[in-house]
Amino acid sequence: MAIQWYPGHMAKAKRQMIEKIKLIDVVIELVDARIPLSSRNPLIDEIAANKPRLLILNKADMADHNLTDDWIHYFKEKGYSAHAVNAQSGKGTASIPDWVHDLTAAKREKLESKGFRARADRALIIGIPNVGKSTLINRLAKRKIAKIGDRPGVTKGQQWIKVGKTMELLDTPGILWPKFEDPEVGLKLAATGAIKDELIDFQDIAVYLLKVLMAKYPNALKDRYGLTDIPQVDGEPTNEEIVELFDAIGKKRGCVIGGGNIDYDRTSELLIREFRTQKIGQITLETPEETR
Ligand code: GDP
Repeated sequence: MAIQWYPGHMAKAKRQMIEKIKLIDVVIELVDARIPLSSRNPLIDEIAANKPRLLILNKADMADHNLTDDWIHYFKEKGYSAHAVNAQSGKGTASIPDWVHDLTAAKREKLESKGFRARADRALIIGIPNVGKSTLINRLAKRKIAKIGDRPGVTKGQQWIKVGKTMELLDTPGILWPKFEDPEVGLKLAATGAIKDELIDFQDIAVYLLKVLMAKYPNALKDRYGLTDIPQVDGEPTNEEIVELFDAIGKKRGCVIGGGNIDYDRTSELLIREFRTQKIGQITLETPEETR
């Protein structure tokens, strides 16, 4: 569920999050495995400072497995405890209490050395809209707790949900705003469905997707749309190459209007829908190499 963010709204979300974080031992930061950097909140390091953090790359079923491995490696090199899961099917999620428990080991040992018995690990799931926070809470709780698409700023009585033997999870997720400044990040968020569709230009997103797919996944495009010759691109494809490809896909799928012209709106919608439902394949839109 995507919402619009205003400065006052963000300040409030930040304040609320800082308060909530005081109650917990471990922050579970959820990102979208298809865009692990672009789906992070810009201030997460500031907001979650001083707490151990578990980084979960969710929707791993939708992402390119090889790149997910690269991203996990990238985050581990930076000192994070990073893991990939699929909150929808539950794959990987059963290990979350153990990963959290590992992060509290030092604190626990300190307490126990002084003769105290450590309590359960308290955790909070946070992330931008649509990364799967509610789905993951429901999965861990083994029942429907969080309303899918819950809105920020709406507070209700919070409760701890017992997960496994060692963890307690706050039943409401922390909802933070996405990155806004970089237009390419905006395109990635829109392509993956993190921004409300009414707010985006489908043709811009389709052109962006075609650029990425031509450069990184030409065979997936060929297979999906029965194309024989996709121009070999070296780096960024030219506008002519994009239009050629757009036309070829539109024609193949019968997205034509009067006079045999391509219906770009329909072709764009089709492409975006097929990307979002993995019809084109498991695709990750950014790589760790691009950050170096
Ligand atoms: P939230 O806004 O962060 O709470 O996100 P939601 O839990 O509402 O999930 C947003 C959408 O992503 C929903 O349609 C979920 O069914 C879907 N979703 C969540 N996790 C996964 C996942 O691991 N894999 C897939 N394929 N879809 C997921």
